[in-house]
Amino acid sequence: MRQNIVAGNWKMNKTLQEGVELAKELKEALQAQKPNCRVIIGTPFIHLTEVCKIVDQDLIGVSAQNCADHESGAYTGEVSAQMVKSTGATYVILGHSERRAYYHEDNAILKTKVDLALKNGLTPIFCIGEVLEERESNKHFDVVKSQIEEALFHLSADEFKKIILAYEPVWAIGTGKTASPEQAQEMHAFIRKTLAEKYQQSVADEISILYGGSCKPSNAKELFANPDVDGGLIGGASLKAEDFMGIINAF
Ligand code: 13P
Repeated sequence: MRQNIVAGNWKMNKTLQEGVELAKELKEALQAQKPNCRVIIGTPFIHLTEVCKIVDQDLIGVSAQNCADHESGAYTGEVSAQMVKSTGATYVILGHSERRAYYHEDNAILKTKVDLALKNGLTPIFCIGEVLEERESNKHFDVVKSQIEEALFHLSADEFKKIILAYEPVWAIGTGKTASPEQAQEMHAFIRKTLAEKYQQSVADEISILYGGSCKPSNAKELFANPDVDGGLIGGASLKAEDFMGIINAF
C-alpha cells in the first residue's frame, strides 16, 4: 500500500540548537494532532543523532540529505550510509538537483549511493526532475525517464518497492514558481507508467511519488489532490513548524 508522505528537506539551514527546537515543536504539534500522512524530516548530518533522540520515529521519520558513494575509509568529509544508519535515521534523500548541479553527482554515482543506502537499511527518497530548458524544449519526460532508468532500474522489484520518489522540477525549486497541479499529475502519471512498464503495475502502484518545488500551505491541497501525487518534499516551507504543519494538514 502506498503511503501519503510529507517530507521536509532543511537543506543547509539551522544550527544544531535551532534544529532541535524545530524538531521539538513539530513533535508537540503532531502529538496534539495526529497527521493523516507519514511525516519525515531531512536534517543536516550533525542534527541526526539529537533529532532521533527527540522524536518518536513512528510519528516523525528522520532522514539524512545525502550519503557517501563509498562504504568507508579515506574519504575526508564524507558520511557513509552505515554512519547515517547508526544515528537512528532511517531515510536518506539522494539525487537532489542541488547535489547533481553543485557536487556533480551523476546517475552512476547515484546508483552506487542507492545501493549503499539499501544495503544499510535506509530508505532512499530519490529525487528526479528537469531544468527549465529541458521542459521548454519538451525533453522533460525523457530526462526524468533516464534519471530513473540509469540510477534505479538495476534494482529488483522488491528492492524498488523500498524507494520513495520525489519529482522536483528544478525550475520550481526555491523560485516561488510551482508546477501546476496538471503539470505535476502529468509527470507523476508518466513516472508511474514508466515503473509499470519495467516492473509491474502492482509495483508501480505501491511507490509513493512526492512533488517538490515551492510547495506551501496555500498550494499543497490542490497538488496533493491529484491521484498520482502522494505528498511533497518541502524545502523552504519545512523550516517553520507552522508552515510545515500547514502542508501536513493538506491531507
Ligand atoms: P522549495 O520547497 O524551497 O522550493 O525546495 C524544494 C526542494 O528542493 C525540496 O527538496
